[in-house]
Amino acid sequence: MIACPCEVCTSADKKDKRLRSSILVESADTTIVVDTTPDFRYQMLRINSKKLDAVLFTHPHKDHTAGLDDVRAYNFFQHKSMPLYGNSMTLDAVMRDFAYAFADKKYPGVPNLELNEITLDPFMIGDIPVTPIEVWHLKMPVYGFRFGDFTYITDANRIDEDEKEKIKGSKILVVNALRKEKHISHYALDEAIDLVQELQVPEAYFTHISHQLGKHEAIEKELPEGIHLGYDGLELIC
Ligand SMILES: [Zn+2]
Ligand SMILES: [Zn+2]
Repeated sequence: MIACPCEVCTSADKKDKRLRSSILVESADTTIVVDTTPDFRYQMLRINSKKLDAVLFTHPHKDHTAGLDDVRAYNFFQHKSMPLYGNSMTLDAVMRDFAYAFADKKYPGVPNLELNEITLDPFMIGDIPVTPIEVWHLKMPVYGFRFGDFTYITDANRIDEDEKEKIKGSKILVVNALRKEKHISHYALDEAIDLVQELQVPEAYFTHISHQLGKHEAIEKELPEGIHLGYDGLELIC
C-alpha cells in the first residue's frame, strides 16, 4: 500500500512484496494471462516474457485491467492483434477505459486489441480448455476460470451452489483471501478456508491478499494442511 508504514509494507521478506493479482497460464504451445493489472508491464518484464497469446479478464475493476495498454509490445513483436476474452460487462468497460484503442482514426502505436465476448460456455484458447465460473463480488458477477485440474478465482465473496460444482474435482484451487476481518466484496481468510474445505480441493493457494492480512511467514503457519498463501512468482504445475 502506497505510503503505508505497517509491518507488511515495510517487511524485508520478498513474499510480503505483493503486486496486483494476476496469473499466467502456460501449456506446451499456448500462453495466457488472466487480467492485466496496473503492474502488468513489470510482471511480464520480471519473468522475461517473450510470448503472449491471449488475455482473459475476470471483471472490469481497474486493479485487473489498468495495465492493458502494454500488450502493445506483443502486438509489435508478434505482428498481430491481442485477443481479449471477457463477459459483455467487462468488454464494455475495456472499450470505455481504452477508447483510444478503438477509435476510427487511431494514433500510431496504440494497442491492437481483438474483443471476444464469452459467456459461461466452455471454450478453447489454443490447446488450453477454459471453463468460466460465475462468482459474486458483492453484486458484481465476476468470472473465475477452470483450466483442466486447476481453478483460479479472484474477487469473490460468494459462489452459487451450481457454480461450485464446476470447481469440485480440481487438484489445485487459487482463491482470494483479503484479510482476517470480514469484507463486503472479498472472502476473508476463514471464509476462504471454509470454501476450500467444503469443495474438498486437496491443494489451495490464497491470492489478492491485502497488507491487512499480516506477514506471509506468520499467516502461513496458521493455515490447515494443503492450504497456503500464494506469493508473487509462485509457480504451480498441474
Ligand atoms: Zn474487484
Ligand atoms: Zn481486485
